[in-house]
Amino acid sequence: MASRIVPGALSLIGNTPLVRLAGASAESGCEILAKCEFMNPGGSVKDRAARFIIEDGEARGALGPDGVIVEGTAGNTGIGLALVGNAKGYRTIIVIPETQSQEKKDTLRALGAELVEVPPTSYSNPAHYVHTSRRIAEETPGGFWSNQFDNTANRMAHIRTTAPEIWAQTGGRIDGFTCACGTGGTLAGVGLGLKEQDERITIALTDPHGAALYSYYAQGELAAEGSSVAEGIGQSRITANLDGAPIDTQFRVADEEGLRWVRQLLMEEGLCVGLSSGINVAGAVALGKALGPGKTIVTILCDSGMRYLSTLSNPVWLAAKGLPVPDWLAR
Ligand code: PMP
Repeated sequence: MASRIVPGALSLIGNTPLVRLAGASAESGCEILAKCEFMNPGGSVKDRAARFIIEDGEARGALGPDGVIVEGTAGNTGIGLALVGNAKGYRTIIVIPETQSQEKKDTLRALGAELVEVPPTSYSNPAHYVHTSRRIAEETPGGFWSNQFDNTANRMAHIRTTAPEIWAQTGGRIDGFTCACGTGGTLAGVGLGLKEQDERITIALTDPHGAALYSYYAQGELAAEGSSVAEGIGQSRITANLDGAPIDTQFRVADEEGLRWVRQLLMEEGLCVGLSSGINVAGAVALGKALGPGKTIVTILCDSGMRYLSTLSNPVWLAAKGLPVPDWLAR
């Protein structure tokens, strides 16, 4: 594929490789394969959703030639929207909780997005970043609220691209898929897309602490327990993207366990990923153990660990959060 010439940056989105994770495979007795979404041009799984949301808006006439894309986002969607927006000639305004990592905010500004920082609040508060982004879209001439949580063009990206890629890459030899949820677009979209191919594929939710989906799928009740420092995941409601997601089983993973996988992947396999990816790998191992030896499980490496230098790679920050500091950061 080295000789391939693609017509432009948008064509670099998707078609990411699946990498075999040796440590996770050994621990679970299964083949654990991970989709390298950090290899997308914006560095995360959200490039796919950004492209689909924008192209769906164009197709519906909701996003016109002088349109302004507005979104409330923890960061990666904003990065994807800013890049796709630039490629297509749109301004992008991103509303972000001020607690998000400095790298993400610096990256968004560097990419030309206009940033609006708001204090973190609960979803029921009208000042919440999602509601603020809707208001700004309404007040801005040509404003297009991309609405990643409840715009199902998000999960359509995964039904149309991620799931068929996984099916083709595994040659249909796949027994289970799992990942954590932010909007739920990835889990629901890949889940629906894979079930279209083979209904017997087990789709599992991997939930961080502090999120309410585990208890919803286990007991039918949205309820959170504990907390997590993982960015981009941890949902407290059934978004439109999650509505009807074919979830067969669910796991709950603590930050310490996710972080153990982040560090194992880094130091033993040379893969530098963020905490949501580590939590996904922990979930894939749990799913592998539940399904039994010899199965093939696929999960997502959502973004790069280099996006979290000031948090996950910062010994002072880790100690302040009560998380273990690895040897190589303590020296
Ligand atoms: N991991 C990271 C780092 C993210 O930014 C996101 C997106 N919010 C996710 C996982 C979850 O993806 P989705 O929105 O498709 O549930």
